[in-house]
Amino acid sequence: MAVARLPLIESHPSWRVAQLVGVLATVTLLVAFLVAPTPSLHLLWDMVIPLLPAVFLVNPMLWRNVCPLASLNDLAGHRRESPTLALSVLVPAWAVGIVLLMVLVPARHFLFNTHGLPMFVTVTAVALLALAGGFVVSRRGGFCNSICPVLPVEKLYGQAPLLHVGSARCSDCNKCATVGCPDLAGRKSAVQSVVAGGRRSWVWTPFGLFAAAFPGFIIGYFTTADGAVAHAASVYGHVALWSAASLSVAIGLMVVSRARSAVGLLLLGAASLLAYYWFAAPRLVAAFGGGPRVGEIVRAMALLGIGAWAVRGWRRVRA
Ligand code: SF4
Repeated sequence: MAVARLPLIESHPSWRVAQLVGVLATVTLLVAFLVAPTPSLHLLWDMVIPLLPAVFLVNPMLWRNVCPLASLNDLAGHRRESPTLALSVLVPAWAVGIVLLMVLVPARHFLFNTHGLPMFVTVTAVALLALAGGFVVSRRGGFCNSICPVLPVEKLYGQAPLLHVGSARCSDCNKCATVGCPDLAGRKSAVQSVVAGGRRSWVWTPFGLFAAAFPGFIIGYFTTADGAVAHAASVYGHVALWSAASLSVAIGLMVVSRARSAVGLLLLGAASLLAYYWFAAPRLVAAFGGGPRVGEIVRAMALLGIGAWAVRGWRRVRA
């Protein structure tokens, strides 16, 4: 099999140290979910997770190079040789990841934001899934490039990275996935994902539908409060309504304007980022002890950063 070299390999030992720290931090967090759920859930959901979209905006490789689930997937996957994942497997696998994202994120409101045990069980199950995926498909084709629920977000927000960061895991590429690997395709992985969908119009592919629904999905999430498990149906109903509204508006606009996938996905990525930080910025600041005024300043800075991202993406799309 021909081996394609990646443009820049960040094989510096510090990445290995960061990967080890990521795995150890995850194990520590798993224990903390059981022995001290309130502070550990606050740390994860209010202080760490809201920073991730900003990291993806700078470059998703900053996360992919250290993600603890990727480390587990790679640990097993690097020892395995298997054929490249064909599109007929890859596209449905991406759809599974999108469904997982759509199911797991609203569940925060009635389960994961406030209960340590379900977090322990779910994170452990997903970690084992990532490890098991490495025994089935080589490299990271069995999880990171296929069913990972974070992958669609990495692709959507990785369309105009502000910094260049190479892969710290694949010093060579055996093409574990035919297309759409952010390590290999970088900012083009989003467009590759809709081209791989094989429909005449990109918006009707799994990734196109995800991108169209995502701004509304985010608004739906942030306009719902935490509650008991009995609250689950109303949470999913609320998020589904917002997602459907977003889907209808975005598809209408894309079909009427006949926007190319590169343009449409960039606009939908920017809309999602704007929606996210409009709600998340003040909450993030509050979690670190800042007041409402600081929250407004950080929100404005986030909007500026997203603007710079969108302009950078727009220049590349037009080039
Ligand atoms: S497709 Fe991506 S994850 Fe798979 S071997 Fe190539 S660079 Fe690594």
